[in-house]
Amino acid sequence: MRLVIKLAGALLDDAATVASIARQIAALAQEGHELLVVHGGGKIFTATLEKMGIQSRFVGGLRVTDRETREVAVMVLGGLLNKRVAGAISQAGQPAIGLCASDAGAFLAEPMSYNEMRGGLGFVGYLTGVNLEFLETLWRAGVVPVASCLGLGADGEIYNINADHMAAACAEFIHADRLIYLTDVAGVLDGRKVMKAVSADEVEDLIRHHKVSGGMILKLEACKRALAAGVNQVRIVGGTKMDGLLSAANGGKGPGTRVLPAYPAAASAAR
Ligand code: ADP
Ligand code: MG
Repeated sequence: MRLVIKLAGALLDDAATVASIARQIAALAQEGHELLVVHGGGKIFTATLEKMGIQSRFVGGLRVTDRETREVAVMVLGGLLNKRVAGAISQAGQPAIGLCASDAGAFLAEPMSYNEMRGGLGFVGYLTGVNLEFLETLWRAGVVPVASCLGLGADGEIYNINADHMAAACAEFIHADRLIYLTDVAGVLDGRKVMKAVSADEVEDLIRHHKVSGGMILKLEACKRALAAGVNQVRIVGGTKMDGLLSAANGGKGPGTRVLPAYPAAASAAR
């Protein structure tokens, strides 16, 4: 099975959480699955920018990325965090390699348009391609690729990509069977309750009725995209849940929220 696993930046703050996720990733890789791990930056990225006196501005949940912010993105996402994740998986007994956009042109990007202005958000991009041949070489060699959410532009610049979008686009480009988001909440919440399933048709309603907001909107939109591209199973799971990744990867009911293309006819009749 080919699987994309997205790790929230917030999960990377805690060494025990990183070790637990790394152990599960190692176990899945050793079962023979082809894994691509994608990680975000979240709070550590913002904290580093603050330490360096750089202000962050968000438009529609996306961080406006000037050149200075982009340099920090490469340092923190492509450096510190990328090596932290690859190191933890390798330490769990499964060789892993940290990749940034530029490495073997592994992840390609184009500048995003905002208000019809190309590059209007600075160095914010969307993923336009993956060096699949290179990833396949790694899988054959028994190495797990770990990607930071960066992409290399045709202009040679590195672009910052929303990690949820990047994970969905990766799942599409590598023809993944499953996409699992490990996040800092237990799943999509309705009040305090974890929704067992959300259908793609339902996402608009959840947004309109303010049941989901902020990063969860981007995540659900990314899930829809992956489903439309033919990814079979998409799930949002709490990253601190004991063995959450393993049970999510094994399919079935499992933890968190499954995002489905549409409710099965019987289930929607019962709603
Ligand atoms: P990640 O790093 O996993 O991409 P995001 O911050 O982008 O995390 O998205 C997850 C966040 O979305 C949650 O931490 C929560 O603050 C917010 N959120 C908004 N609405 C909901 C909801 N209905 N259920 C769960 N999380 C929600
Ligand atoms: Mg997010």
